[in-house]
Amino acid sequence: MNEFELIQHFFTDSACAQGGENVSLGIGDDCALLQVPAGHSCAVSTDTLVSGIHFPENAPAFLLGQRTLAVATSDLAAMGATPIGFTLAITLPQLDATWLQAFSAGLSAMAQSCGITLVGGDTTRGPLAMTVTVLGAAPLQQTLLRSGAQVGDVLCVSGPLGAAAAAVPLLLDEIKAQDTPAAILQPLFDAYWSPQPQLALGQYLRGKAHAALDISDGLLADCGHIAKASKVCLQIQQSQVPVSVAASQLLGAAAGLKCALSGGDDYHLAFTIAAAQLAPLQRQFPAVQVIGQVCAGEGVQLLDQAGQSVTQSYSGYRHFN
Ligand code: ADP
Ligand code: MG
Repeated sequence: MNEFELIQHFFTDSACAQGGENVSLGIGDDCALLQVPAGHSCAVSTDTLVSGIHFPENAPAFLLGQRTLAVATSDLAAMGATPIGFTLAITLPQLDATWLQAFSAGLSAMAQSCGITLVGGDTTRGPLAMTVTVLGAAPLQQTLLRSGAQVGDVLCVSGPLGAAAAAVPLLLDEIKAQDTPAAILQPLFDAYWSPQPQLALGQYLRGKAHAALDISDGLLADCGHIAKASKVCLQIQQSQVPVSVAASQLLGAAAGLKCALSGGDDYHLAFTIAAAQLAPLQRQFPAVQVIGQVCAGEGVQLLDQAGQSVTQSYSGYRHFN
């Protein structure tokens, strides 16, 4: 099988490359052609996953396909954008048909649940790595930026945090999975391998939330980005932060909390919104929790129940530190 047969079989013919509203021309020509509906901007974001850095070398191909697309599409959710298409630049150490079939199936499963179509890419040989670029439609004036948080807003997250980070020591064999009950393992592995981009929530929040992002590097680090872009202080009540039950069961309460505060990889949304918007929001999205508020000042403050600032030994992952 040569490069072109590989592309045809595992990508052009795959379920994720078929159809798509606003896709005028998909895989096969020099460019794909996409339409952005009137009154929208084209939202674009790229993510690269490198073997051994972002996932274990022996990662199952189906799960990798799911996760690769999920982490990229989560950026569209964070902007309140509607997914249109994505490209996949993949570097493969060898042509392994079984691996490619499973990867393509995982990609298709996530593409279907996100309503996004594979429209092009590039296929090269080398150490395993994938780059996904997602494209979506973001309504003008209603797009969710990091820069709009207002003093007096409440700070919310879209669900429990820490599960994906708690899965990492299991994936790295630092904790033996066979000693851990399935009821704990499953939600942790699910959170890591198939995070669900919060697309419906992001679209609901259009024109309502004042600032938003998806939590990829850890709650505190990512809230720091909103604080900086919005020139405000985000105060977080530590006791209000929803911690994944399975993460606490696996690691204990203190380490579970640490995963929730600084672990990352959950791809939930953090956003600020006027308190008056909360009741209808939480009726429709009951997992949304208020964890703090926006104040004048700068940076992120983590507060204990007495309102005292808790020492920040937590920070997000940085590649060049
Ligand atoms: P070019 O040489 O013009 O860059 P390629 O030969 O690399 O084109 O690719 C041929 C077609 O296959 C293009 O439409 C490209 O977008 C698509 N393609 C290549 N690799 C992938 C991939 N991994 N996933 C999806 N589409 C791909
Ligand atoms: Mg090419």
